[in-house]
Amino acid sequence: MQKSVFSANLAKAAVVRKVLAFLQSSANARACMLLLCWLLVWFSGALVEYTNHASVWFPAAGLSFAVLFVVGLRATPVIMLGAILVTLFTSNHYQIQLNFKQVLLSGVLFGFAHIVPYYMGSRLLRWFTQSKKLTLLLSIISFLVIATISSLVATLLVLMSLIYTDMMTVQEFSTAWLPFWIGDMAGIIVLSPLFFSVLHILYPKKPFHILHHIEGQTPFPTPQFKLKVLIALSLVVLTMTVANYSQSIDSSFMIFFLVLPHMWIACTENAFLNVLSLALTSLLIVFLVDKLGLMDFVMVYQYAINVVASNALFAIAVPALTAHNHQLKNKVFVDNLTQTASREYLTQRAMVEIRHAQWEKNDLCLLVYDIDHFKNINDSHGHNVGDQALKELSEKVKQLLRPDDLLGRFGGDEFIVLLPNTNSQMAMMVGNRLLEQINDMQLIAGEQLSISIGITQLNQDDDFESLFKRADKALYEAKRAGRNSICQQ
Ligand code: GH3
Ligand code: MG
Repeated sequence: MQKSVFSANLAKAAVVRKVLAFLQSSANARACMLLLCWLLVWFSGALVEYTNHASVWFPAAGLSFAVLFVVGLRATPVIMLGAILVTLFTSNHYQIQLNFKQVLLSGVLFGFAHIVPYYMGSRLLRWFTQSKKLTLLLSIISFLVIATISSLVATLLVLMSLIYTDMMTVQEFSTAWLPFWIGDMAGIIVLSPLFFSVLHILYPKKPFHILHHIEGQTPFPTPQFKLKVLIALSLVVLTMTVANYSQSIDSSFMIFFLVLPHMWIACTENAFLNVLSLALTSLLIVFLVDKLGLMDFVMVYQYAINVVASNALFAIAVPALTAHNHQLKNKVFVDNLTQTASREYLTQRAMVEIRHAQWEKNDLCLLVYDIDHFKNINDSHGHNVGDQALKELSEKVKQLLRPDDLLGRFGGDEFIVLLPNTNSQMAMMVGNRLLEQINDMQLIAGEQLSISIGITQLNQDDDFESLFKRADKALYEAKRAGRNSICQQ
């Protein structure tokens, strides 16, 4: 049974791969596919039209923006053909008394009014985001500003073309422009990022993709992803049902609570899942506005879609910033070569541990060691072997310490071990163990190393500086005593 499901899945995957390969290799097939998708997407927007020519949202704007962004001018014939076909449908749908030539002119004008602002907007966005200087947050701000302005320009141009070709009256303009604009904007802000990702699969040779500039993303959903989406969708259903029963505009504003699950998703999931979940909840809102007949509150829902999506897009940067922060912290706090604590981190931790030990009247020791005649290793085997020796030695010392002890590189071949809850006798035992084990160790180059150790115990009036000074003095004495030895101060 399982085997047959597995082979069915394999067969499906093979079909998908074949279709994809065909689409990727044939420009004509891609153009047909695009036209079909554009028409489908346009009709899905027209289904939720609530005044003449204005929909709850206009997904075709999102698709046009994304296609023009990814493909550029070569996509314009397809969108123009789509614009003409839907104009033919619209004139029929509204039973507008125009002859074929007039409808054709109207379609071409609609095409230009739709394509020009989105082409310019998408080029501008591409130019901005390709600039290396633009941070992710600034790229997202430019996307939102460009989406707002280009959808406004497209709205005004399209409505003017409709009036010019007698498909709309001047009176209708005053009621249509705002919902028309907000619907187009929602189409772009919510759906373009998702379309960018899908188009990227169809056009693999056009590697530029706005979401690719996001580093530190996990490729897979977290185990809670489905739960998060379920919460977001349930919230939509709940708030819209309440609005439907109460029929009060105040209750319709509860939809803005949607920002909470979407921020959760945006901060914890990757960018693709973020835009996918946005598309899902927006689709459900649009569907329910239509099915529950919430047309009186439609502007609230339109604004909610835009505001929630803008917030979630901003939050795309959060996982990337967290990952960057983590990397930076690692760079500052971990010594790159030996993977021991950096001097910076060790100093900070030592200061905290010292205060804690003095307050609690606990013992604490500092052990400082330096490799004997380390220059000789570099001189006879080269710097790389010297590096390898430092790594191997640090690995060995880490194995010999307790989990609470902290090993850090103070610089060059000098290291510090912070030993909390340790008195000087115990520290001497640790030191002796290190000496013995390192003497027995055979390095990669067949060489043997030894270290000299200085140990000191914390006093009540010590700070890190005085403690380190004493331990370093002890180390100096161990060197003077002939090396491969321990001194205590
Ligand atoms: P001593 O017994 O007196 O400590 O002799 P030494 O040769 O070890 O002298 P010292 O500790 O003063 O010098 C440390 C040497 O360690 C200097 C430098 O050549 C080498 N060294 C410092 N940092 C690195 C590193 O990151 N990689 C390598 N390969 N060598 C380093
Ligand atoms: Mg040395």
